[in-house]
Amino acid sequence: MLFLWLPLLFVLLHGWGLLRIPKICFPRNTSRALVVVAHPDDESLFFANYITSAVRAGVQVHILCLSTGNADGLGKVREKELLRACALLQIPRDRVTILDQPRLQDGFHEWDTSAVAPAVAAAVKAVQPDELVTFDAGGVSGHPNHTSIFRAVRDMVDSGASPSFAAAGSDVGRGASKPCCVYVLVTHPLLVKFSGPLGAALLLLLLLRAHLLQGRRRWQPTPQAAPAQRPTSGRPGSGPAQVQAEGPLVFATSNPVLPLRAMCCHWSQFVWYRLLFILFSTYTYVNLLQPLGTLSC
Ligand SMILES: [Zn+2]
Repeated sequence: MLFLWLPLLFVLLHGWGLLRIPKICFPRNTSRALVVVAHPDDESLFFANYITSAVRAGVQVHILCLSTGNADGLGKVREKELLRACALLQIPRDRVTILDQPRLQDGFHEWDTSAVAPAVAAAVKAVQPDELVTFDAGGVSGHPNHTSIFRAVRDMVDSGASPSFAAAGSDVGRGASKPCCVYVLVTHPLLVKFSGPLGAALLLLLLLRAHLLQGRRRWQPTPQAAPAQRPTSGRPGSGPAQVQAEGPLVFATSNPVLPLRAMCCHWSQFVWYRLLFILFSTYTYVNLLQPLGTLSC
């Protein structure tokens, strides 16, 4: 097995850039992106390939971290670690928002979507992103804080002007027309998740094959609405109703060492099993995003 991994690792480290894989996804009509995570270190462990690909393509990436990660009383330390990791990923301080709300505290429990949705909606309103990226229903690791974000964002997409906003007295989502495409990070089956560069390479080849077979998809309004691409505007033929998210997107950095370096910024969390995760996780090498729908901002 090792004799297969080492050449693959070499190819991934030194040959990835030649494949120009991020160019399958960028450039698009994306100038601003909002990545919503639950804890400091999620951005490095899970979303680093998307972030680095976007930054390299000139996309202005913003991070919304819904908690300080204070489960062990290290919230203040972890806030600083997140800012250091973001700096390494070329996201300046003023594009990082870290919340510390009573209903959104780090822990192995579900967050109430009525707490998550207004926080996400406020960030969407402030950043006005072209796309929002967050966890899928599996939350990559299954952490309930991660999956809570998905449930809240899915409800926002499903309802357009979410009832959560009305309950919170917010005007976010009302009368707005700028579309924001929502993508979720695909949770892989266990075997794929921990197959490292080998799984990433296979995944990439399969996606590349599908991409070549289907032809290059472009970011533009299409008359056909895929089931996962639900409009959020109630006005026919206007605003987000006309904007369709692309199909699955794949992001691979030309520098797989960067996620490891970003994770090194999270010293308080850098225990042996996270080191193993960052080395053997497919997410260190490839991010696969699935469209969920659109929001207004
Ligand atoms: Zn997390």
